[in-house]
Amino acid sequence: MTATNHSDLPASNPKQQGPVRVRIAPSPTGDPHVGTAYIGLLNYLFAKQRGGKFVLRIEDTDRTRFVASSEQMIFDALRWTGLDWDEGPDVGGPFGPYRQSERTEIYREYCQRLLDSGHAYRAFETPEELEAERKAQMAVKQPPKYSGASRNYTPEQAAAALAEGKPFTIRLRVPDGDRPAGTASTTFRDELRGDITFDHFNVDDQVLMKSDGFPTYHLANVVDDHLMGITDVIRAEEWISSTPKHVLLYQAFGWDLPRFWHMPLLRNIDKSKISKRKNPVSLIYYRQAGYLPQAMLNFLGLMGGGMAQPSEQEIVSKGLDMKLADIFSLQEMIERFDFNRISLGGPVFDLVKLKWMNGEYLRGLNAEAFFQTLRSTIFSDSYLREIVPLVQTRMEITSQFGDMADFFFKDDVQPAAEVFVPKKRTLPDTLAFAPEMLTVLEAADWQTENIDTSLRALLTAKEWSVKEAFMLLRAILTGKTASPPLLESMVVFGKARSLDRVRRFLEAQKKAVVLAGRK
Ligand code: GLU
Repeated sequence: MTATNHSDLPASNPKQQGPVRVRIAPSPTGDPHVGTAYIGLLNYLFAKQRGGKFVLRIEDTDRTRFVASSEQMIFDALRWTGLDWDEGPDVGGPFGPYRQSERTEIYREYCQRLLDSGHAYRAFETPEELEAERKAQMAVKQPPKYSGASRNYTPEQAAAALAEGKPFTIRLRVPDGDRPAGTASTTFRDELRGDITFDHFNVDDQVLMKSDGFPTYHLANVVDDHLMGITDVIRAEEWISSTPKHVLLYQAFGWDLPRFWHMPLLRNIDKSKISKRKNPVSLIYYRQAGYLPQAMLNFLGLMGGGMAQPSEQEIVSKGLDMKLADIFSLQEMIERFDFNRISLGGPVFDLVKLKWMNGEYLRGLNAEAFFQTLRSTIFSDSYLREIVPLVQTRMEITSQFGDMADFFFKDDVQPAAEVFVPKKRTLPDTLAFAPEMLTVLEAADWQTENIDTSLRALLTAKEWSVKEAFMLLRAILTGKTASPPLLESMVVFGKARSLDRVRRFLEAQKKAVVLAGRK
């Protein structure tokens, strides 16, 4: 891939005369991600600044990664942020359905067009054959690339394979993709980077339709962006390498391109791509831990440098508090956010700064609003109603509630080694086991029976007793040796926060080991 700044391509395409239409297209594969809110905010600002429409589309065609509860969680989390969409599966709109699993007929029809025009072909290689090819390529350090015989089947050969009932996928025929490097290339314009060129030698014949009849992301995404009249595709930079495939599809269909804006990825403090091992990434975590949506949006709005912050002059003349120069309401962001200012260096998702910002928002509330905030978050009726049955039978006087339920209301609990290391285990033993527990919990469906079954399977494999494992988990979650029923408490506390507690425990222990080593 190469990028240059001077473009020969037309600056905008002819269909883009009317109001802009943008979209976010999350896949329901788990908890709603902070990255979705970040890209959602950028799309929202873009639409609001230009009197356009902001669309929510659910990309649920990957059935292997589909999580049934995830779609509702995406709606809830995005509603919590306050980024309202104009069209979407739950609010309708003129270009529906907005859920891809309800559009499979459409993709089939468009895929057929590509087959008819020769831009796509049926590929009959088996998964085993593809795997063998991939391994062979890796062995000689070549990037994996499909080069199966089906690409060059005559119509008769293809018809014969079809008649035999061989399963097949449908692949995009990348023009001259089977010729040496330098034969053909695709150039598209990225509004933030200028022209980007990909040699077709490096573009795989992408699968468009899987053997189960479901489209891949690439086909469904392009067909929908076109049919939904999307003028500007604003998404994370990880999709840049998919874009040449998309451009080839637009060309094969004879459609105008949207404008592409690839936003810099959010990063951990160490500059690696944001990951749950280093930062909570679930929006549900932030909501449950008591972050305010305004603070979250404000913080995300600062990522990437698009916010025109007040100049020093403005700060002095308006008597602004310097450290508050970062504080913007959503309305102010609509007024001041400038897509031309975005810088491509990876914006760092700095939890310390987000926490500080949240504190600023909390301090800005009057007493009543602050009280109401507590009552609608950490002291909400619904949360309390879930907690009280877990402690009622264990109490003699109501003030013991605080002694028993304190961990439900804390940001952090860090147990001492005497509390978390089981009697017959050593500290290193325990710290080797805890990450395994985290992995199992991450994969568990968050209901008591499922957590229990997954944990027990691990215990048997690792020869830990139920008593030992529950003691460790109880210590990590509650900071104590005794607590209300543990699994029920974890369900009420929530998956995102429970996992965060285990991760923070591991992090703190790692630091302690480093410090001990220095002594
Ligand atoms: N479904 C993709 C995702 O999960 C959408 C990427 C795009 O915006 O094209 O992020």
